[in-house]
Amino acid sequence: MIYDIIVIGAGPAGSTFARETAKSKKKILVIDNEDKSNQKPCGGLLAPDAQKELAHYDLVLPSNVLVSPQIFSVKTIDLNFKLIRHYQRYYLNMDRYLFDKYLVSLIPNNVNIVNGRCIDVVKDNDLFTVTVSCKNKVKKYKSKFIIGADGCSSIVRKKFFKDNTMKYIAIQEWYKCNDKSNSFYSCIFDRKTSSSCSWLIHKNEYLIYGGAFDIKNAKENFEIQKSKLSKFLNLNISNVYKKEACLVYRPRHFFDFVTGKNGAYLIGEAAGFISPSSFEGISSAFKSGSILADIFNKTNDDKKIKRFYKKKTCVLKIKLMFKVLKRWFMYTPFTRFIIMKLNIMSIKMKNK
Ligand SMILES: Cc1cc2nc3c(=O)[nH]c(=O)nc-3n(C[C@H](O)[C@H](O)[C@H](O)COP(=O)(O)OP(=O)(O)OC[C@H]3O[C@@H](n4cnc5c(N)ncnc54)[C@H](O)[C@@H]3O)c2cc1C
Repeated sequence: MIYDIIVIGAGPAGSTFARETAKSKKKILVIDNEDKSNQKPCGGLLAPDAQKELAHYDLVLPSNVLVSPQIFSVKTIDLNFKLIRHYQRYYLNMDRYLFDKYLVSLIPNNVNIVNGRCIDVVKDNDLFTVTVSCKNKVKKYKSKFIIGADGCSSIVRKKFFKDNTMKYIAIQEWYKCNDKSNSFYSCIFDRKTSSSCSWLIHKNEYLIYGGAFDIKNAKENFEIQKSKLSKFLNLNISNVYKKEACLVYRPRHFFDFVTGKNGAYLIGEAAGFISPSSFEGISSAFKSGSILADIFNKTNDDKKIKRFYKKKTCVLKIKLMFKVLKRWFMYTPFTRFIIMKLNIMSIKMKNK
């Protein structure tokens, strides 16, 4: 059987695309390798833009996806200047794995879903052949179009397009933590160990500490920063329940976004659609997945798909480029110091 479309990856981008193209009666296959032992490392915060995307489809969140506590502010910590400020935020705190499973459950039954790892994609005579390893067996599937919704380490992007966008290594540790007396969400800056940021967040009975680090010496810098942070906050984060890591994009230029051509298209983080300032990427995954689905629902002409997708993602690209500017203010130690010191936009804390 030859599929019309094979989608690699069923994160927010892939499941949105598959759910929306299912209406077109095309033969669609989704291949995804996420399971309990292979979960996406993520802060699991649903930003207002992502909530709005769900609202566009009249979708709601089941309560089992939400975790405790829900948060109203981010406690921003600068470890160099030893400053703490609070800023209002409107995120929903979620279990990222259950969120992904919920999104997959919304894909209609006429879409086939295979649980396996795509290990190769080749194009031959206008058809793509996708090799998938599942349960120690290797299977091959053929399609007319291929959609890379497989995140930052996208096999589709590596095979068919340039992949020289800057990347960080995101490292996260989970700790058992039953003390809810001081629950918070925190964003941490420490220019000595990272040119990016880190975060602390409570999720039910766990506390997560994670951060994005330059690839060189990432592990060492994670440990140095962790020890600084635990001293600064007097926090016990030594008893590691689990540790996870993955690559994450930091788009810096317009040409870091790759939308695709010649039957191969990229959505979500695989295309580079992620905020370079906060690493918020779920909203862009929804947006790009739904834009491409709309186009596929209207045409099968590859030239038109390429042109319309490039054009219709322009607003998203411009929005993400504004975040490059925002990043400059947040990540330049001097401007951050001034903003924090002058209490610009921060919440005045009572009882402190
Ligand atoms: C540490 C960290 C924290 C983050 N925190 C947040 C946050 O709090 N809020 C937010 O909005 N964004 C956050 N992001 C960004 C967000 O996770 C991504 O931008 C978003 O998940 C992108 O969605 P996606 O569908 O494009 O890709 P992904 O969510 O990465 O999904 C890709 C899917 O493809 C599958 N896959 C990959 N390769 C293969 C393969 N070869 N074969 C089969 N399947 C494959 C994966 O298993 C996965 O299910 C964070 C990112 C990181 C790294």
